[in-house]
Amino acid sequence: MNIFVALKQTFDTEEKIVVENGSVKEDGVRFVLNPYDEYAVEEAIKLRDELGGQVTVVTVGPERAQEALRTALAMGADEAVHITDEALFGDEYKVSNVLASYFNGKEFDIILTGNQAVDSGSGQTAVRLAELLNIAHVSTITKLEINGTDVVAHRDAEGDLEVVGAKLPLLVTCQQGLNDPRYPSLIGIRKANKKPLDTPSAGDLGVDAAISSKSSVQETFLPAAKAAGRIIEGDNAQRVTELVNLLKNEAKVL
Ligand SMILES: Cc1cc2nc3c(=O)[nH]c(=O)nc-3n(C[C@H](O)[C@H](O)[C@H](O)COP(=O)(O)OP(=O)(O)OC[C@H]3O[C@@H](n4cnc5c(N)ncnc54)[C@H](O)[C@@H]3O)c2cc1C
Repeated sequence: MNIFVALKQTFDTEEKIVVENGSVKEDGVRFVLNPYDEYAVEEAIKLRDELGGQVTVVTVGPERAQEALRTALAMGADEAVHITDEALFGDEYKVSNVLASYFNGKEFDIILTGNQAVDSGSGQTAVRLAELLNIAHVSTITKLEINGTDVVAHRDAEGDLEVVGAKLPLLVTCQQGLNDPRYPSLIGIRKANKKPLDTPSAGDLGVDAAISSKSSVQETFLPAAKAAGRIIEGDNAQRVTELVNLLKNEAKVL
């Protein structure tokens, strides 16, 4: 099996977000392998161990994104591809086109990705990639079974369960509950740090130079500080009356 994982390095969700000059400040911030992509890497490794083949992880991102690739290698991925050419960075439209150029002409059976990136939270890149490669996709999967070229996936349909059948080649996006990602072993970390990365340039990928982003962030701002709560006084009947009054006349939700 030729198994690929498209992964992204993201802001650690534990970090405090500071907005400065219209963008999120990155100085001194810890970056991690996108948590949803950890499920994708884990599932890819399990598939390889069960069915044979190899796992290749690929990312489009700056120098620091190399750490996310090394985490995936330390977990057990076989090869890593780092597309670092800044001319290729952009919105979900552009990145999915760059990834499609990478996959064009390559043999692949399955591409696994995260359900969404915890930074931009859009969930577009992977499904756009499937469309560009003209293959089927199943999003937000919580279970994956492959038998020959037949695939059965469970998907999280906003709290309900949907069982979907598909054929390889396929792209799936991985949701919490799919598996428990392993921690990289010490030996895995040592090996991963020595492994050479494949670093194709825009020219190597044959990317159409005309591809530009279709969207741009106009403004970034933090939500307004939460207003203090209000305690309604009186006995229960008075409080219910006052609450209904406030919901009707102040919040205007009734
Ligand atoms: C549950 C949910 C509900 C939503 N509801 C709404 C809504 O009601 N209204 C609305 O307007 N919008 C909604 N959106 C957002 C909408 O889908 C987005 O605008 C969008 O598509 C952004 O994608 P992302 O940043 O989450 O994920 P992406 O950035 O697209 O990432 C998804 C996956 O793609 C891969 N990937 C991403 N970047 C790279 C890279 N550089 N290199 C390699 N691999 C990469 C990774 O595997 C990653 O996990 C919703 C999104 C989700 C997930």
